[in-house]
Amino acid sequence: LRAGSRNEHTHRRNLSVLLTLAHQRGPLSRADLTRATGLNRSTVGALVAELTDLDLVNEAPSPGNRTVGRPSPIVTANPGVVAFGVNPDIDAVVVSLVGLGGVVHGRKRIETDGELSVDHALDIMGDGMSQLLSDFGAPSRTAGIGVAVPGLVRAHGGIVTRAPHLTWADVPLQSLIVERTGLPTLVGNDAGLAMLAESVFGAGRDLTDVVYLNGSASGIGGGALVGGVPLRGTDGYAGELGHTLVTSDGIACHCGRRGCLETEVNLQRILAAAGLDEHHAGEFLEHLPASDSAALSAELDRAADVLGHGIANLISVFNPQAVVLGGFLSALYEERATRIHETTRADAFSPLADQLRIEQAKLGENVALVGAAELAFTPLLHDPLM
Ligand SMILES: [Zn+2]
Repeated sequence: LRAGSRNEHTHRRNLSVLLTLAHQRGPLSRADLTRATGLNRSTVGALVAELTDLDLVNEAPSPGNRTVGRPSPIVTANPGVVAFGVNPDIDAVVVSLVGLGGVVHGRKRIETDGELSVDHALDIMGDGMSQLLSDFGAPSRTAGIGVAVPGLVRAHGGIVTRAPHLTWADVPLQSLIVERTGLPTLVGNDAGLAMLAESVFGAGRDLTDVVYLNGSASGIGGGALVGGVPLRGTDGYAGELGHTLVTSDGIACHCGRRGCLETEVNLQRILAAAGLDEHHAGEFLEHLPASDSAALSAELDRAADVLGHGIANLISVFNPQAVVLGGFLSALYEERATRIHETTRADAFSPLADQLRIEQAKLGENVALVGAAELAFTPLLHDPLM
């Protein structure tokens, strides 16, 4: 590199670091930014001024708490810089408009009937995006579209290799959406993106090593943050933690194996034990049914034990600071926390589980959408001058 291009590179990198801090940790004072980056005050001042000119951050005088000297202005990522988060799923397509800072401006859930074709999903997505924009008004900038898909997504090219619950296979989703909308688009696995959202804005905030398990009506998805970086694998398929083996002689799974975590710890099974219609599983993601039934109690014990066993396997691989549980796994944890901890400790290779934290996910129903938008923001955060 020539000296000029090296300086330009450093400059872009510093802008990226400041914008990312304002987006993920903001609002922050200029003094906070100076501390967090180790850059000197005048450099931070000039970079913030440049980001303000780009309309990517807003700067306002610090409210109250005047200490010695001039108050340090407060820097906030501009929530008018937006991305769309899209999540096609079995029973609905959900579209959201998310601003920098993780602000969810709006969300449309459009229910679908029967098998969802790719074309139909894209029509619904387009309608949802138009409605959200007409509610919101004109954004300062639209970074793009992020799509969270329940299935295997090839990171390179954004191809949905296999989404069993949608019956999609080898769908070039990224290029189809770019053709329709003209907006930059990135596609990822729903649980992997949920993990990203929890690690930036939720239960995994400030952690570098996290295993995330999300229980939905269609199974268990997962993701891992390793040394601060989401684990991707060669093709982008890493994190299919629902299809890790927990019982060698277990139930047959749709993936073709037996004894997968998602068939053994299963919301439909829990509802069946409670004598409830298992087709309304989606209603029980936040809280499991309350009942004195002995069958339900036994099934919750069994599920807690299997989950503890699964967690013990995962911590042998990842040695995480925390395991974050979302969806009905968080609800199961609410019912059987002690039992899950005990089984994990008993099954783990000591001392791996001694310091383990198990956390409940914090972002609720928007988690995959915020993660999808975060994916769409990635190029802008990486290079604010793009
Ligand atoms: Zn499986």
